[in-house]
This record gives sequence, C-alpha cells and structure tokens, in this order.
Amino acid sequence: MGPVISRPDLWKFDMHVHSVYSGDSFNEPGIISDNFRKTGILPLVCDHNTTAGSAAVSHDLRKIDPQIPEILAEEVMTRQGEVVGLFLSEMVPAYLDIRETMDLIHGQGGLVLLPHPFCSWRGSRLWEEYAAEIVRCIDIVEGFNGRVIHAEENAAAREFAGRYNKPISVGSDSHRPQDLGRWWLELEPFSTPEELMKALLAGTVRFPVLERFPEEK
Ligand SMILES: [Zn+2]
Repeated sequence: MGPVISRPDLWKFDMHVHSVYSGDSFNEPGIISDNFRKTGILPLVCDHNTTAGSAAVSHDLRKIDPQIPEILAEEVMTRQGEVVGLFLSEMVPAYLDIRETMDLIHGQGGLVLLPHPFCSWRGSRLWEEYAAEIVRCIDIVEGFNGRVIHAEENAAAREFAGRYNKPISVGSDSHRPQDLGRWWLELEPFSTPEELMKALLAGTVRFPVLERFPEEK
C-alpha cells in the first residue's frame, strides 16, 4: 500500500455492494448504476443468497461501458458464515457446508472471496474452526469492509491475508445509497477471473480508502 496515485488507466472498484435484491438494502439497481456514472467507481454487487442483483446491475453497467465484464456474484450464507462467489454462472444454494459452497463456486469457474472474516457482530467467525481446510480454497480475503465497526477486525483480516499470501479486497458493504462507493481500491482493468486475480496481486493496486478512514489513522 503506497501513496494514493489516481491513475486514469486504473479502475476504481468497490468490491462489496448490496442491492434491493438482498432484502435488507435500499440500493435500487438504477441508483447503483447512476452512482457509477457519476463517480466512475465500479460496484461489485453481491446480494445475500441471490445473483439477481448482480445480473441486473451488470446489464446496466455494460450499457454504459461495454468493456465492463459481466460479473454474477452472490454473498452466500453457509453453515459456517458468509462467503462471496464471483464470476458465477448460476446461483449457489445457501446454508450448505462452507466447504461444499466453495467447491460449487470453483466448479463454476468462479472465485471465492471471504468477506469480513473477523467481524465480531455477524457471527462470521464460525469458519475459523475449519480454517486449515478452508484457507486453501480462498482466493481473496476482504481486507477492508466499510461496515466492520472495529478497525482491528479489518486489520486482522489483512494480517490473515498476508500470512497466507492472499490478495485483499476493499468494499463499502453498502446497503444504502449514501455508502455507495465510499470505499474502493484501484487496480488494472480486467475481464476474466484470472485477470482480476492478476490485477489484485499486482504492485499497482492502491487502497485510497485506507488512507482517509479515520480508524486507520
Ligand atoms: Zn455484505
């Protein structure tokens, strides 16, 4: 993580956004795509247990810019907490064993992102009992979640990612329009899961968000 250098050739990416399809979010797909139009911050929509929101928003974003890849994504509830699948081709059923869920995501050619892994208020830590097994299947660790209350829980996520050489993501976890694109990272443009992994691992990734988040100071 270096100084913030906003390069016009990099994409800004908020890797955790909820739409109304989540059932607990006020973000209509039109509001999400309008926010992208205004800010240029690409949203990764990953609704609770459905890919419908990501399909709707991807469709709108690609009308604005056909270069934007279609990314079906879902924040799936498992018996051991939540896991995000991205680059899915179909919906992954909820409430399975986390190991089965991760296998289903990879079976579709998707990527597994572990959201807010050390968040204390979500019961997200149930996966830890299986950490040794699960860690092999994790592609990306959410290193900064905008709704995690204690900064040390985000710091623990980044420490965990570093220990296992996993790239980190940054996400607002927006459920309301005012939080859309509040936190993001910058990375090289991508279109496939492989290119996204490469971009996340590249030295050019910047996290401007961490620099202006008061708890991080
Ligand atoms: Zn979420």
